[in-house]
Amino acid sequence: MGKVTGFLEFGREDRGYVKAKERVKGYDEFLVPLPEEKLAKQAARCMDCGVPFCHNGCPVNNLIPDWNNLVYRHQWRAALDSLHSTNNFPEFTGRICPAPCEASCVLTINDDPVTIKTIECAIVDRGWDEGWIAPVVPAAKTGKRIAVVGSGPAGMAAAQQLARAGHNVTLFEKADRIGGLLRYGIPDFKMDKRLIDRRMAQMAAEGVTFCTGVHVGVGFAADRLTAEHDAVLLTGGAEHPRDLPVPGRELDGVHYAMDYLTQQNKRVAGDDASDQRQILATGKHVVVIGGGDTGSDCIGTANRQGAASITQFEILPRPPVKENTPLVWPNWPLKLRSSSSHEEGCERDFAVTTKAFIGENGRVTRLRGARLLWEGARMQEVAGSEFEIPADLVLLAMGFVHPVHAGMLEQLALERDGRGNVKADTDRYQTSNPKVFAAGDMRRGQSLVVWAIREGRQAARAVDAFLMGSSDLPR
Ligand SMILES: Cc1cc2nc3c(=O)[nH]c(=O)nc-3n(C[C@H](O)[C@H](O)[C@H](O)COP(=O)(O)OP(=O)(O)OC[C@H]3O[C@@H](n4cnc5c(N)ncnc54)[C@H](O)[C@@H]3O)c2cc1C
Ligand code: SF4
Repeated sequence: MGKVTGFLEFGREDRGYVKAKERVKGYDEFLVPLPEEKLAKQAARCMDCGVPFCHNGCPVNNLIPDWNNLVYRHQWRAALDSLHSTNNFPEFTGRICPAPCEASCVLTINDDPVTIKTIECAIVDRGWDEGWIAPVVPAAKTGKRIAVVGSGPAGMAAAQQLARAGHNVTLFEKADRIGGLLRYGIPDFKMDKRLIDRRMAQMAAEGVTFCTGVHVGVGFAADRLTAEHDAVLLTGGAEHPRDLPVPGRELDGVHYAMDYLTQQNKRVAGDDASDQRQILATGKHVVVIGGGDTGSDCIGTANRQGAASITQFEILPRPPVKENTPLVWPNWPLKLRSSSSHEEGCERDFAVTTKAFIGENGRVTRLRGARLLWEGARMQEVAGSEFEIPADLVLLAMGFVHPVHAGMLEQLALERDGRGNVKADTDRYQTSNPKVFAAGDMRRGQSLVVWAIREGRQAARAVDAFLMGSSDLPR
């Protein structure tokens, strides 16, 4: 523990943002880090509560009190080692994790939580700046060949762990770049893509082979993978989006959020998207359907593209502004969450259902909605509440149902769970084919980056144990 009385002396102070008016001019990250002295004070608020609920609230079980103590004592390099012992990519989570650790911090009970995520980010950013982060090359090779399919955070974490255990790992990806949703879902203003490139260079030096533009199950038979490798790990995400089959769905201008977000990330990367139909919000009345992370990212992107107006509809009722802490702590509370993208400007409306898209000459021009009345988990439409608003661009951000079944999963004929995800437990991560493993959103359904990293790490250990009889990789 850093300072016994720290939590009594210092209030919570977090890193800031560049002002909304400035940051919407471009796609750069806009976090303003805290200086070292302030970080040490914030770390001193960690109060050695005995049972660190934050450690359990964090899906990768980061050793939070340990590195808070080290940051307070200015032992940054030791803090980095501690952080890397549980998390392959803290610079990703330090930027985009919703920080369930902070919801379960003991200080949350009657005060503001420790700024855990900010401290995590500062430790790893410093590690890169100082040149402390280098490839961890295995002392010996095992000669085993492993294919990892899907290069999101689950696939990247698994590939890195398996390469460090001495295996020959090939990471297959259907897109033209590595990173999964980190690369082509999450906008650059939330996470700069150079962070992925830097980790790729580290992983390449550790022995990972990257194979982009290979769509397993489409033009590359899935059984080739099983035939040519000792084990196969599937980390292909949950890419089947939830649709909204209402009248007018076929109109031009109604798009899945991912089609829109991917295009913008490619533009930022300097790719020529002229071969695709451009989806742009510039000068348009934009309606985003869905109140989660994806919806937020659409709002931030539409503001940067110069939308005329942005409205976000959520089907669920508006949650309370403040959670009932004694009731929910240390669990993740239901409360109104406003992202930096909301702060940049948009109208938010809750308990709204979309009844139809209305168009002219094949293009959407208006959206017809209605209000809902929720009683517990039951909802009904409020009679006479129908309304219409202008809508030139509608973005469907209602989440993902399950992984894509056609192609790879059908060819491998793997068992699926009741929700359509690949069936595998969190002990062995093994599918109905003993040689094939699954992790991340492909196994657990749509989730978070930090859960994907956890599953990638744990699945790597399971694959290592399957091939070698036992494993020294951490779980
Ligand atoms: C717009 C958006 C914003 C989000 N924001 C956040 C956030 O702020 N914080 C957070 O924690 N989480 C966020 N999430 C969720 C998070 O991104 C995912 O939970 C996480 O990326 C899942 O990781 P994964 O590795 O399992 O799969 P993915 O990241 O989905 O990666 C799967 C990869 O597999 C590839 N693939 C699939 N099938 C094949 C095949 N047959 N052959 C070859 N390659 C294949 C895909 O192309 C993809 O690159 C967001 C999600 C979206 C859509
Ligand atoms: S990974 Fe997420 S939950 Fe874990 S310490 Fe970092 S911010 Fe908290």
